[in-house]
Amino acid sequence: MSFDDEIWIDDEKEVCKIEKLNETKFATKFRVDPLSKQGIDDLLMLSDLNEYNCLHNIRVRYLKEQIYTQIGSPILVSINPYVFLPKIYNQETLAYYKVKLGQSQASLKTSTKQNEFQPHLFKIAQLQFDQLFESPTKELRICSMIISGESGSGKTESTKILLKYLAAESKSGLFRTIQQGQTIEQQIFASNPVLEAFGNAKTARNDNSSRFGKFMHLYFNADTKRVSTAKIDKYLLEKSRVVKISSQERNYHIFYQIIGAQIPELQLTSPSKYEYLKNGDLSYNRNEKQEFEETDICLDNLNFSPNEKKYIYHTLAGLLHLGNVKIEYDQVKSTLKLDNSLKIASELLGIQIQQLDDLICKVFTSVGKEIVTKNNNLENAQSARDTLAKHIYEKLFNWLIDKINQQLLNIKSLSFQNQQQPQLTKHMIGILDIFGFEIFTDLNGLHTNSFEQLNINFTNEKLQQHFNLQMFVTEQKEYDQESIKWQQIKFPDNKKIIDLIENSSVSIYKMLIDQTIVQNRGDKEFLSSLKQLPKDNLVLVSDLQTAEIEPRFDKKIHRVAKFDWFCLKHFAGAVAYNVAGFVEKNRDSINGEVFKILPNSTNPVLKEIWSNVSNDYQNMKLNNVVTKFQNSLKELLNLLNMSIPKFIRCIKPNNFKQPLTFEASEVRRQMTCAGLMEAIQIRKAGYEIRLKHIDFIKKYQHLVNKNFKNIKNIEEMFKLLGENQKIGQFLKEQQNQLSYQMGKTKIFMKQHFREFF
Ligand code: ADP
Ligand code: MG
Repeated sequence: MSFDDEIWIDDEKEVCKIEKLNETKFATKFRVDPLSKQGIDDLLMLSDLNEYNCLHNIRVRYLKEQIYTQIGSPILVSINPYVFLPKIYNQETLAYYKVKLGQSQASLKTSTKQNEFQPHLFKIAQLQFDQLFESPTKELRICSMIISGESGSGKTESTKILLKYLAAESKSGLFRTIQQGQTIEQQIFASNPVLEAFGNAKTARNDNSSRFGKFMHLYFNADTKRVSTAKIDKYLLEKSRVVKISSQERNYHIFYQIIGAQIPELQLTSPSKYEYLKNGDLSYNRNEKQEFEETDICLDNLNFSPNEKKYIYHTLAGLLHLGNVKIEYDQVKSTLKLDNSLKIASELLGIQIQQLDDLICKVFTSVGKEIVTKNNNLENAQSARDTLAKHIYEKLFNWLIDKINQQLLNIKSLSFQNQQQPQLTKHMIGILDIFGFEIFTDLNGLHTNSFEQLNINFTNEKLQQHFNLQMFVTEQKEYDQESIKWQQIKFPDNKKIIDLIENSSVSIYKMLIDQTIVQNRGDKEFLSSLKQLPKDNLVLVSDLQTAEIEPRFDKKIHRVAKFDWFCLKHFAGAVAYNVAGFVEKNRDSINGEVFKILPNSTNPVLKEIWSNVSNDYQNMKLNNVVTKFQNSLKELLNLLNMSIPKFIRCIKPNNFKQPLTFEASEVRRQMTCAGLMEAIQIRKAGYEIRLKHIDFIKKYQHLVNKNFKNIKNIEEMFKLLGENQKIGQFLKEQQNQLSYQMGKTKIFMKQHFREFF
């Protein structure tokens, strides 16, 4: 290799930034694999599979606008281009995958091979669609596409691209038509802008950041291969955003949209006039009026009635006015100031002023049979007002999704409470677009993470564990079961940190729930109860003076808050959490009067939303945020564990939203966090393709000119194959190189083995 073949991987910006922190800079000289200089499709095909070659290969491709690279067939790496690349998503490209790849899958005999198709989200979608119906028996089959990555890495855009592809099936008649001329695919598409308007917001990292997780189910009819129904599961809407945003961020898009819509009855003027909006980024402009019109049309398409829409907007505007309601305090009690904001809020929310006063300024507790009223002080009243706003918004969001699901599941006049699952078909494609790992920092780079980030990061730990298990454990297990020769590979295991957070006897969540259940306990008690936990992955502030700080606990973190925080060593890095607000956020309690007052609102949407909310929220054991969230996460993982997965790892190539700009150290960090390097090692060492004996016989029966029914078993099949001189010779060579192995029930093959046929 000549000197030219040595390449420096570094990038100016990152080197400066790191030098300032006085840490080792990331610049490594390495000998480059000629293949990585070309930028090949599949990292597993590199002859020298080291980290730098992989990185270089991805960079070469990215700079050629090839943003997708695969790691064998289950993993697609996608690097955010930050600019629309029309060529890669146009109709021609779509048709290419649909027709060509679709056909080559359908007819096993054609010589067109999967590998000839460039890695693409379209390819993933087509392969999963084909897998769905591959099994001749009509057993339950779930194919999932798990999209992960940091905020702003392109997860939501990828989801839309996948849906676009799968929905394009409908053009050839694959989607069922439903009432009022709307096809289910049109309804799925209509749901997207609605969900984004209500669930997305501008953050420092992403102008259109999803503030909730979503798992889209598409159910197919096995006979017709048509989508018959669909459903959206959602996870953890960040409701604190409704009342509090920082200067670089914004509230949910829908608030700005209804202001832009200039609907007279809502009496809204401009974002700078509302407490819930004015501290955010006011300079950021979108075409709010046009976006409102889109949301409004989509609500029509989802069969929301004009009246429902009207009162949805009333509710939203009511919340903005509610945020402006002033509270007066005379050292004994607080009262609501009778001004315009209060009057308009009361009108739009359909709640009398006196009732709003009860909800915000008083606390009702029952002592025996009697109800005792207490007055809130100023601070408590202000927080009661904001809590009310958050709860109303969250319930509105849940109600919207329930209504959308009723449409997608095509259930008419279903009572809200008594929602039964319709008979779902056994073939499902699931697309998971969920919040990535989060480390929030302030302008000085100090950590400012809270309860929400803990839940988000915990979700990512669980998904990472699923990925590891899929990639590593299942792989090893299967080789063992099939008696295949196999070298053990070390794999990263994040079980310890998961246990530390969720273990049922001693864990962070357990401690938090314990404090939540007991009245008057708070963050201080929670923090001190953490002392009982194992310290492998946890640092408490009180230990700080004495603790030998491990290098993985970044120095920056130690300059965080002086008190009241704990720090966790996550698989993706160390994160400091400030405990302020943890217990109350988990309690998520609200003045019990809402369950009497809101069901009688004269705003019919609010009335409907609250009529069926049960009052068992009092049961903190069941109804704290963590418990509910853990239950939904468990359901999600059960589904994923049953599914045939494809993993889409989205990567953000720079922190400045710059088009086609590749910062090697950023990409490298994310690849490591995503466990991609280990995945590469294990896939490379293992067998990419595996077929059941009978499927192998069926698939290659044409090579031996015999109907599979007349071939007794796999041994006979290999004997027949061996009779062909050319194939026999090939088989012998390949067997020596362990390019294929015959397992007890399956044949295991390396990629190049299959290409021979
Ligand atoms: P995430 O959901 O991971 O937080 P998004 O999918 O919202 O991130 O992407 C953030 C931004 O990056 C988008 O608003 C868009 O500008 C850009 N982007 C992401 N993926 C693509 C893509 N495939 N093509 C062009 N731009 C993209
Ligand atoms: Mg998103």
